[in-house]
Amino acid sequence: MADRDGLIWYDGEMVPWRDARTHVLTHTLHYGMGVFEGVRAYQTERGPAIFRLEEHTRRLFRSAHILGMTIPYTPAELNAAQVAAVRDNGLKSAYLRPMCFFGAEGMGLRADNLQVHVIVAAWEWGAYLGAENMERGIRVKTSSFNRHHVNVTMCKAKANGNYMNSMMALQEALACGCDEALLLDTEGYVSEGSGENFFLISDGVIYTPDLTSALDGITRRTIMTLAEECGIPVREKRITRDEVYAADEAFFTGTAAEVTPIRQLDGRSIGHGGRGPITEKLQTLYFDVVKGRHPKHEGWLTYV
Ligand code: PMP
Repeated sequence: MADRDGLIWYDGEMVPWRDARTHVLTHTLHYGMGVFEGVRAYQTERGPAIFRLEEHTRRLFRSAHILGMTIPYTPAELNAAQVAAVRDNGLKSAYLRPMCFFGAEGMGLRADNLQVHVIVAAWEWGAYLGAENMERGIRVKTSSFNRHHVNVTMCKAKANGNYMNSMMALQEALACGCDEALLLDTEGYVSEGSGENFFLISDGVIYTPDLTSALDGITRRTIMTLAEECGIPVREKRITRDEVYAADEAFFTGTAAEVTPIRQLDGRSIGHGGRGPITEKLQTLYFDVVKGRHPKHEGWLTYV
């Protein structure tokens, strides 16, 4: 990943990919105190378009605020940086990674003279959970790792350090032959995947956990809007793992994961054990929207 052609926006300038380096004493590398985003640009008939760019940038600033980190750029500057990262790399579609981190100006938890650095990288990235799984669905394991307690880490922040928990859960699920983990909160209710929000469908109604310990996903909001526009009721509620076993359909949402059907949880088939009809409808609609084929939601696209 580090050794490739391309450009990365780094503290206000485009630098060659191989030169986008930072010191080993970079504070965030040691303590995980940093914030980031995952954003996608899709190929449309009018060229590449970044999906819900402003909402992602808003969440980045909100995450930084929660951590007490001051980003030395405006949202407009970081929006422009993301557009430039797609454009200057000549990408037709892309995954974008803006990240804000503390520099190597000081060490130790008390360091108070730290500079906030910002990067935006962009590269071509296909289906995060495998192209074939977008139709057949993935196998998921309930994790032995709980999602963060709200007073242990800040769940509303997309913070670097939060992802140790995600990786532990994901590694466990992969080691068990599954594709993804489903994390429960510390009370035992369904929270989210390692990098996705969770939905289930039962008797024609869509249910999703509330956001107590899950990230306020932009894809989650998108799907809730699209479902409501289709007249499919959506309810936020506490969900137990056995409700998932008994559901008609289930799927994950995320910028990387898009809309990924879940065919199995803990070895039990969900519904008929594949992509269900409501999941398929929402997945198709989602791809129409992000690819600029849905005039009503043109406003969610920023053309590069
Ligand atoms: N939960 C977690 C823990 C995530 O990392 C992500 C990916 N950002 C999501 C949910 C989904 O969020 P979004 O739809 O905004 O990508």
